[in-house]
Amino acid sequence: MPLETLYQKLLLDHYKNPRNFGKLDGVAVRMRHENPSCGDQIELYLERNGDGRILGIAFESWGCALSRASASMMTQAVKGKTSAQARAMISAFRMLFEPHQARLGDLGDLQAFAGVREFPARVVCALLPWNALAEHFNGSQEL
Ligand code: ZN
Repeated sequence: MPLETLYQKLLLDHYKNPRNFGKLDGVAVRMRHENPSCGDQIELYLERNGDGRILGIAFESWGCALSRASASMMTQAVKGKTSAQARAMISAFRMLFEPHQARLGDLGDLQAFAGVREFPARVVCALLPWNALAEHFNGSQEL
């Protein structure tokens, strides 16, 4: 099976069966991000321990398949990670959509989103959850 088809199946699976979907009890952070171009909204729930490690992460979203699949895969990718690791992942994911991909790092299945680069209007959908997470880091005292 071609890689592209595998990736499409992966995104569809995350859209239909989003991981870490819902609210988180004892929420530490709650963010709402809206994407005006297609009406995507996301609420991200985060629970971090004293040294910043992401112990729990969950989300709710309304909007297109792409933003939901991206959020689902993001929560899987950053759960259990330190803030430095999560930040590195945000940078690497954003780099997927640069015209010249210097290096892809260890994105694993997240590389499934690379094809979105061909559709600039949709890139913002894929980035929405990641931007919400980045905003959390930027707004938090601990870096
Ligand atoms: Zn969208």
